[in-house]
Amino acid sequence: MLRKRNCRMDSCSGASVTSLDQQDLCLNHFLLRCYEKLEGVDPRNRKLCPDPLELASLRGFVEECSRKTLDLSLHCENLTNLQRGRLLDILLWAGELFFLLRAPRLTTWESHNLGRLQRVVNRAGLEPASR
Ligand SMILES: [Zn+2]
Repeated sequence: MLRKRNCRMDSCSGASVTSLDQQDLCLNHFLLRCYEKLEGVDPRNRKLCPDPLELASLRGFVEECSRKTLDLSLHCENLTNLQRGRLLDILLWAGELFFLLRAPRLTTWESHNLGRLQRVVNRAGLEPASR
């Protein structure tokens, strides 16, 4: 039988629901770690292009991140709407990064167009319906 384990983040007593980078994490710390790591992986936040070796490890992380996020959103019970939204957000971001890291030469063009798409989505999604 699988033993219950606790989240490995400092002073957190939450039960771990998954692992990332071989660290057991509770759901909230998993979300936090994903955001932190994806921020660092995103080529749009980097000045230098990663070398091929680093690129492979970044892709590996993005893949692990999206796999575990999908798994959690399908199998984790009692998710709040906010947690659900964050899981979806991470999943979309990871998918986008996976694409950007596959084709670094397209990065500028893609991020330009994805940025435009994001603005359209934000306008459509965040404007209050009745105003
Ligand atoms: Zn935790």
